[in-house]
Amino acid sequence: MILDLKSVFISEGATLPVNFELDMSDMAFGGINPITKPVAVSGSVYNRAGIVTVDVLCEVEFSAPCDRCGKNATKNHGINIKRVLVSQLADKTDDEIIEVPDLQLDVSELAVTEIVLSLPMKHLCKEDCKGICQTCGKDLNDGPCDCNHAQVDPRLEVLAQLLKD
Ligand SMILES: [Zn+2]
Ligand SMILES: [Zn+2]
Repeated sequence: MILDLKSVFISEGATLPVNFELDMSDMAFGGINPITKPVAVSGSVYNRAGIVTVDVLCEVEFSAPCDRCGKNATKNHGINIKRVLVSQLADKTDDEIIEVPDLQLDVSELAVTEIVLSLPMKHLCKEDCKGICQTCGKDLNDGPCDCNHAQVDPRLEVLAQLLKD
């Protein structure tokens, strides 16, 4: 969605409401498309004392197998985007400020970029998911298995080896 911001830039106190749905259903993460529901983007672009700001909330429903146990899990993420907009950028290194030379903003592109960058690296069904036993395949959230889990961390084994030598 392209926003025409001329009216906001020329009048102090002006507000342009932003309210649309973003289709991210073809966005692939690790071979699947976890965002099947349209992302609601809502907020506004406003001019306060000559400073124009875009301020929107993106509501993302992310549905994918848990990174630890593999069970399908759905999580909602509210991703807030707030950036100052200027027609000409003096300092190109400041990524909190967006340059809009033709006073137009592709708010869909901004939202997609921010959503991809803001989604957590790990997708877990719950914070303390215990995962699957690497040896027997049992879901450890249902209780412990009978395997011997001593020294399952290969890094610790390497360290133990180093200390011994
Ligand atoms: Zn899990
Ligand atoms: Zn086991």
